[in-house]
Amino acid sequence: MSSLDPLFDEALRDLADRGMRRTLRPGRNGSGTVTRDERILINASANDYLGLAHHPLLAERSAEWGSKYGTGAGASRLVTGTLHLHERVEARMADFKRTEGALLFASGWQANAAVLPALLKLAGPAPLVFADRLNHASLHHGIQAAGIRQVRFRHNDLDHLEALIAERADHPGRRFIVTESVFSMDGDRADIGRLRMLARRHDAFLYVDEAHATGVLGPAGAGLSVEAGGADLVMGTFSKAFGSFGAYVAGSRSLCDYLVNACSGFIHTTALPPPVLGAIDAALDLVPGMDHARRHLQVSAGRVRAVLAQLGVDTAGSTTQIVPVLVGDASASLELAAALERHGVLGIAIRPPTVPPNTSRIRLALSAVHDEAAIDRIIAALTDTFAVTGRAG
Ligand code: PMP
Repeated sequence: MSSLDPLFDEALRDLADRGMRRTLRPGRNGSGTVTRDERILINASANDYLGLAHHPLLAERSAEWGSKYGTGAGASRLVTGTLHLHERVEARMADFKRTEGALLFASGWQANAAVLPALLKLAGPAPLVFADRLNHASLHHGIQAAGIRQVRFRHNDLDHLEALIAERADHPGRRFIVTESVFSMDGDRADIGRLRMLARRHDAFLYVDEAHATGVLGPAGAGLSVEAGGADLVMGTFSKAFGSFGAYVAGSRSLCDYLVNACSGFIHTTALPPPVLGAIDAALDLVPGMDHARRHLQVSAGRVRAVLAQLGVDTAGSTTQIVPVLVGDASASLELAAALERHGVLGIAIRPPTVPPNTSRIRLALSAVHDEAAIDRIIAALTDTFAVTGRAG
């Protein structure tokens, strides 16, 4: 019992009263499935987009590097934590992203939260940061941690972005544009090509989060920024299509060297451990050659979207493997999730504050390991559920 427990309990009661208290529920993840309460469900809510989290090559190399090089790196990168394995994976990532350099981070959340303050402190007293309104919490956090009030543009509305930049044409500060390439909750894409043009025209630094595109979209799965010709900084995570954990930042050699010297979240944390590096390295062997899986994934997503369109369900402009089933009301989204689960499909309800008020949804996240039969079952679950009541039933 701690002295703050009464306050914790009060906060929890308040959340429960507003239907917003969250709890953890364990499951056992398989390849495209999850076992909960002894039932095997189709997992339509994981970010294991290529099914690599259960690929034997990743498991083997992870075990091999663990036994050969140790289960922990033992220190931070600048002390004795840098192994040749880190340098190898960083060089391979830079090749994959077609950048001069790449740097490993502990997680995607931590990379965004730590890199943005390091960049913004360099930019002088009043940098101007233009951020998509639906950017991930870690991006918001990084900008906030730098003590900067971001200028938010309407989601994917680059005319609005341009107008906001123009309104501040006389501002002396450096400009930054921060966006995701595939939005985590809507599954739609930013127009990186146009963002590049805008950034060039207004002398802005373009920061792109490719968490949900890495391994999935762009040439050989390298992401949408590679397809569009690059960005000043691209980050992404190994925790989704790469089936593992950790994150990367890719960009110029100077950027990477600067971060090694100035980014607290890189400097003051222990280096990624060998088993994780082994899994990433094995994923790098596989991902570029997985065009077939990537095509199958997008065909599957297209099928699910087409059925939802027939049912009159809004999918928020999704064009990727992330297919939101927009419900609006938070409790209706929970009912829909429960109904899908009764039909053998796990689709998690996402509610405020993760998404804006009245945009609660089931976030379907499909995987290339969902075969046609699994997609058929997801479609049947959605159709049956919507057929019963016209909505969640
Ligand atoms: N950026 C985006 C857009 C994300 O969706 C996420 C994770 N949901 C992250 C960053 C954080 O990545 P990680 O899970 O590796 O911390």
